[in-house]
Amino acid sequence: MKRAVFLDRDGTIIEESGYLDRLERLIFFPYSVDAIRTLNDGGFTIVVVTNQAGIARGIVDEEFVGEAHRTIADRMQAGGARIDAFYYCPHYPEGTVARYRTRCDCRKPGAEMLRRAAADHDLDLSRSFIVGDRWHDLASGHAVGVRGVLVRTGLGRQDEATPDKLPSGAVVVDDLAAAAAWILQQA
Ligand SMILES: [Mg+2]
Ligand SMILES: [Zn+2]
Repeated sequence: MKRAVFLDRDGTIIEESGYLDRLERLIFFPYSVDAIRTLNDGGFTIVVVTNQAGIARGIVDEEFVGEAHRTIADRMQAGGARIDAFYYCPHYPEGTVARYRTRCDCRKPGAEMLRRAAADHDLDLSRSFIVGDRWHDLASGHAVGVRGVLVRTGLGRQDEATPDKLPSGAVVVDDLAAAAAWILQQA
């Protein structure tokens, strides 16, 4: 079984921009490609897990989210890095698009995206990590035994200020580069 690093997307790999609805607004943090490459080299399977309530809200469609993920994958490949899989939750209980308006198990803090990835990619969750800028990223990992790392980019500083929401054992670091270094130290 393989070890994984689950990565949140917005505020962790790329800038948090509210609802990303145009590719021009997709801005990488300068260290993201290098950080992911070091995790690839460390033998980790890299899985993006992202809540995309903008789909249920009618702001973007699944086609656009797919296009954004291809853009991210291409940028990684150009820098010698690799994201092995992308999972997104299109749902939102108060959404405006009927077929996505549901209370699901995949929206973080739910852990269904991690469970699905583990089954699809033969992952050992107990030796895996999740990196994100919101408490709900870490909570989704905590529910299935995945250790969490909060980054201070995106909305991370805000959630660092309410530590009671963070699961026990959570680590807080500045950004994805520092998270990758910390994870490799544990390995
Ligand atoms: Mg985020
Ligand atoms: Zn969902």
